[in-house]
Amino acid sequence: NTFAEIDLGEALNLNIRRCKYVKPTPVQRHAIPISLMGRDLMACAQTGSGKTAAFCFPIISGIMNGPFAQRPRGARGQCIRLPSSSLRRGSFHASDCKASPRQWLRDLERGVDILVATPGRLVDLLERARVSLQMIRYLALDEADRMLDMGFEPQIRKIVEQMDMPPRGVRQTMLFSATFPKEIQRLASDFLSSYIFLAV
Ligand code: AMP
Repeated sequence: NTFAEIDLGEALNLNIRRCKYVKPTPVQRHAIPISLMGRDLMACAQTGSGKTAAFCFPIISGIMNGPFAQRPRGARGQCIRLPSSSLRRGSFHASDCKASPRQWLRDLERGVDILVATPGRLVDLLERARVSLQMIRYLALDEADRMLDMGFEPQIRKIVEQMDMPPRGVRQTMLFSATFPKEIQRLASDFLSSYIFLAV
C-alpha cells in the first residue's frame, strides 16, 4: 500500500515522495498496475479521487522506463513539456489552460513528450496541421462524461480518428469518467481494445 511497492521506477518514485504523496488512493492502487501491464482501461472515478496521477504516473513511467524509452521521441507534435510546478500540484490541466496559443505552438515546434489539451484546442491545431498524432503511444481521456455533456464528442472522435490513421503505432488508451452512461460505454467500445473496467 505504498508507491514504492508499485514498479514506477526510481526517478518517479523519488518525485512522488517529494510531492509528499505517501499512499496511493484507491483508484491509483488499481489503475496504475493495470496501466503498467499495458492494458486499456475504463475507470469510473470522481474528481478528487486522485485520478489525474492514476493516469499520469504510468504514462510518465512508460515514457521513462518502457520499451519505447530508447526510441527517439519529441518528433513534432508527438507528445507538451510539463512545468515541474504543475507536476507537484498533480494537476496538469492548469498548465494547458494558462499557456498562450503562441507558447503552445513554440513548444510543439520544438517537440514535446506529453501533450495536454482540451478537445477544441487540439482539433484547432490538427486543422492547422500543427500537430500529428499517429505516433502517440498513450492516450488518456479524462472527464469523458463532462466532455460529452459539453458537446465535444465530434472533436474527440476526430482526434482519435487522426491517431488511428496509418502509420499507426501501438497505442494504450485510458478513459476516465465519473459516470458510465450508454454514450460513455459506446466511446469505450469504440476507442478501447479488450479493456479492464474499474469502478472505485
Ligand atoms: P484529482 O482527483 O486527480 O483531481 O486529485 C485530487 C487532489 O489529490 C490533487 O490535489 C492531488 O495533488 C491530490 N493527490 C492525488 N494523489 C494523491 C496521493 N496519493 N496522496 C495525496 N494526495 C494526492
